[in-house]
Amino acid sequence: MSSHNASELPILCSSGQLLLQPLWDRVRAREALTQSPLFAVLFSITTYVGFCLPFVVLDVLCPWVPALRRYKIHPDFSPTARQLLPCLGQTLYQHVVFVFPLTLLYWARGPAPWPREAPELLQLARHVVGCLLLFDAEFFAWHVLHHKVPWLYRTFHKMHHQNTASFALATQYMSAWELLSLGFFDMVNVTLLQCHPLTVLVFHVFNIWLSVEDHSGYDFPWSTHRLVPFGWYGGVRHHDLHHSQFNCNFAPYFTHWDKLLGTLRSAHAK
Ligand SMILES: [Zn+2]
Ligand SMILES: [Zn+2]
Repeated sequence: MSSHNASELPILCSSGQLLLQPLWDRVRAREALTQSPLFAVLFSITTYVGFCLPFVVLDVLCPWVPALRRYKIHPDFSPTARQLLPCLGQTLYQHVVFVFPLTLLYWARGPAPWPREAPELLQLARHVVGCLLLFDAEFFAWHVLHHKVPWLYRTFHKMHHQNTASFALATQYMSAWELLSLGFFDMVNVTLLQCHPLTVLVFHVFNIWLSVEDHSGYDFPWSTHRLVPFGWYGGVRHHDLHHSQFNCNFAPYFTHWDKLLGTLRSAHAK
């Protein structure tokens, strides 16, 4: 729903919209900067690395802090520098060589005018959940296909499975085709739902966080799968099982697609 339609003004004046207006005004004040392709790429890298860093620190501390081990899915595993550095290098390389030129091409079409009004809070939440559900379905289909067709697996997805016990920085250790497919799904979904630019930003941050959490190797009491009721969300234990067993839990976040297709394997949470 477009947020600058005159007929919607009474709705847009709700408290939910007023709550986000100061934030949106601040983003809009730096519109030239925030719409630039360099910002988009730097934002994506810093958000990703920023979410990974606490887990990297925990992995370093783990051998000396036994209390941390009870939250680790593989208590005796800690990634070495020889595993961490190629992962970080791959993320930087992909962003410079593939993501930046594509963002530049998109930007060269001309900047899209931003609405003056902030999105309504509930609408933002609905759109973020909608985008996550769509992304989950699209990646599930992509993922099943890239496991079932040996050539697709070998050529495009095997790289992501190099680390059987995953860790935060392994999240984006993937082929360029896989990374660009994920980016394409993101773009399609926010366009399909006509998300407000602030919603797009929030969705990207959420999506990066959830993907890092999926690979973190830590199952904390506040992990997303423990906050979402009825086992609707698989999260870190489910995705870890996918990395170790290959033939189950193909959806990145939610459990309904794997349940429907009989590929759900429950990781009994401690
Ligand atoms: Zn896989
Ligand atoms: Zn993975």
